[in-house]
Amino acid sequence: MIAAPIFAANWKMNHGPTEAGAFMRAFVARYAARDDRTVMFFPSALALAAARDAASARRDLWFGVQNISGEEKGAFTGENSARIARDAGATATLVGHSERRHVFGETDQATADKCAQAVSHGLTPVFCVGETLDERERGHTQSVVLRQLRAGVSRLDAAQLGGLVLAYEPVWAIGTGRNATPADAAAVHAVLRAEMGALGAIGHVPILYGGSVKPDNAAALLDAPGVDGLLVGGASLDVETWLSVVASV
Ligand code: PEP
Repeated sequence: MIAAPIFAANWKMNHGPTEAGAFMRAFVARYAARDDRTVMFFPSALALAAARDAASARRDLWFGVQNISGEEKGAFTGENSARIARDAGATATLVGHSERRHVFGETDQATADKCAQAVSHGLTPVFCVGETLDERERGHTQSVVLRQLRAGVSRLDAAQLGGLVLAYEPVWAIGTGRNATPADAAAVHAVLRAEMGALGAIGHVPILYGGSVKPDNAAALLDAPGVDGLLVGGASLDVETWLSVVASV
């Protein structure tokens, strides 16, 4: 079982191998392993090895990739498979991040294939769902996140479902400086939690909140009912800021 709260850093297309190595050396010097939380890093796939190597003695830290292919192997130029990610040292992968869905046109079907590939190669999917501002304003938040969740996990059995990590990331909150309120987050987390029960997930699946998390709002968001951790973009890029987020509770 993963110790919660979970603090997951999504570095997006930032920090190459040199910066990732320097970040991790500074981070591990300041952050001692704790059994009451889990810290995960999702660097660029090209910086994964440098980040891991710089933290090589630290088995408590998780390292993952930001994306994998939904295909097993073959002629897919530019893609990374789950098997390759695992071989490169990843133990987790983001799936369905809003930038994959909205910038790269990733479909619900693609997220299902990626989740299936991840679990079949021993990667923990951190599966992201979230509504756009337009969808929220039209009152479609619940239907959108449920559609994304049901589709994305449709190829997993109950035990595999139990091995997921979910992340609720409202698209309007990502990188905008406008975070969801703790009450907004709690309401959607409750919907996702109920659906995981209805789908028969075995065990407690952690549900993270993501979207403009900063050191000054992290504690309040983590205090919201049903929030088991945070998925953080911008505020995970600077060592001091990330240490503050990770130590916010
Ligand atoms: C993200 O990319 O998953 C994210 C939540 O970004 P930010 O924290 O910058 O809003």
